[in-house]
Amino acid sequence: METTAFQLNPRTADFVKSKTIKKLFIGGQFVEAVSGKTFPTYNPATGEILAYVAEAEQEDINRAVVAARDAFEDGPWSRMLPQDRARLIYTLADLIERDADVFAEIETLDNGKPIREAKHVDVPLTVEHFRYYAGWATKITGDVIPVNVPNLHNYVRREPIGVVGQIIPWNFPLLMAAWKLGAALATGCTVVLKPAEQTPLSALYLAKLIQEAGFPPGVVNIVPGFGETAGKALATHTDVDKVAFTGSTEVGKLIMNYAADSLKRVSLELGGKSPNIVFPDADFSRAVPGAMQAIFFNQGQVCSAGSRLYIHKSVYDNALADMVSYADKKVRQGNGLDPKTTMGPLVTGEQLNRVTGYIEKGLEQGAKVATGGARADGDLANGYFVRPTVFYDVQDEMTIAQEEIFGPVVAAMPFDDIDDVIKRANLTTYGLAAGVWTQNMSTAFNVAHKLKAGSVWINCYNMFDAASPFGGFKQSGIGREMGEYALENYTQIKSVWLNYN
Ligand code: NAP
Ligand code: MG
Repeated sequence: METTAFQLNPRTADFVKSKTIKKLFIGGQFVEAVSGKTFPTYNPATGEILAYVAEAEQEDINRAVVAARDAFEDGPWSRMLPQDRARLIYTLADLIERDADVFAEIETLDNGKPIREAKHVDVPLTVEHFRYYAGWATKITGDVIPVNVPNLHNYVRREPIGVVGQIIPWNFPLLMAAWKLGAALATGCTVVLKPAEQTPLSALYLAKLIQEAGFPPGVVNIVPGFGETAGKALATHTDVDKVAFTGSTEVGKLIMNYAADSLKRVSLELGGKSPNIVFPDADFSRAVPGAMQAIFFNQGQVCSAGSRLYIHKSVYDNALADMVSYADKKVRQGNGLDPKTTMGPLVTGEQLNRVTGYIEKGLEQGAKVATGGARADGDLANGYFVRPTVFYDVQDEMTIAQEEIFGPVVAAMPFDDIDDVIKRANLTTYGLAAGVWTQNMSTAFNVAHKLKAGSVWINCYNMFDAASPFGGFKQSGIGREMGEYALENYTQIKSVWLNYN
């Protein structure tokens, strides 16, 4: 179904359909790229072009970093009281809430995700995230240290790191921007943010609201462009103090290398291959839909997706049959703008090919498809839709059980007992998240504590809150976002000594 079949909020229509070039946001102004280049952004449900976006390259990144540096060192931001910083962040949250419908529609148009999720997950979590960190702006305290020297007073200040480069992916475009900006702004840093090339629109709409809220020029700069040019320019820039990245583990390693030259601080939120473990005493009325939502939420394009599904051998056949029936009957694929849609298209044709490539690899290596296993056809053939897919007869060493697919594809495997499943669950280079389904709390805690993962969900999955930390063990990342923990990413410690003798 064409997008024109859906009624858009006039402000969304104006923003997306105006066919004017969406400009970079640098130093508080919307400006064209120095090169004058632009790139298109598409609606993945239909393949149509939504808008042309100015393409940042090295020179634009340089200008944005200068603006961020000026704002950090000399501008009103550098002298602003914590309570005024808090007020600006609260105002931004209020403006996002005011334009919630517009954001939800932009997110669905640009990324493909179901509007009901954009409305009920992405946008409200974004608002809550900014409010949570607005609260922190006035609560970043130091310490007094009882040093063992007479007549010396020693205290510790927690100072903002400075100019921060932030690079984010396309799976939750607005929410990822919020996760990055919230803590950075609360601590008093200034930011150059590069959205993913596939989904730059919500960040550019956010830029309008940052301007409207009254943030001083240069505090936040938003520079869409490509990873290999804009992203690399940002991560290698000698006047950027810290780089915060969310994306693939592969690019995360590049970022660390780029940052090494000037010893930038680095925090990384990377990929995962998260185990989701169903014990025989689970409440299956929750575990079955829970395990399916764990992999199908956001079309499976979630770094913490429960993509390795371990089911106890005594309940394997029955649980699998129920899960397949859920995938067949409960998942409703379609244009994300349709309020009845629960699964939209993948974000790009490239991602579609990647996911179907993994499906073929799984079949080649001997895994079997219980349902799905192909691109969707019929009405959905124009968009990048993959049918919700459940593999069984999967072995731990198969590619589909080892590599991140980032699509609606789950690998189901039986297990024998607790020791067996813990060992196999940890048999991966990743360590982002995990799920455990059981009514026995002794089993739940034992497993939760032995899994090498940054988040463990017991009888639930993909739960997020601005106050609770999120991040990876092993090759799933460095540092934590959210909660008090994320303040570490954007502050540094200064020890001051005073001789009062
Ligand atoms: P990606 O290729 O790693 O891209 C992420 C971001 O990095 C994009 O803005 C991208 O720009 C940029 N980038 C790419 N190459 C770069 C380079 N050489 N230098 C600097 N920046 C560069 O990942 P993706 O394919 O867009 O997203 C999917 C991946 O992100 C998955 O592996 C998923 O697990 C991970 N992810 C992790 C989390 C988390 O919180 N741990 C959250 C979401 C996603 P372009 O858009 O121009 O390529
Ligand atoms: Mg990419």
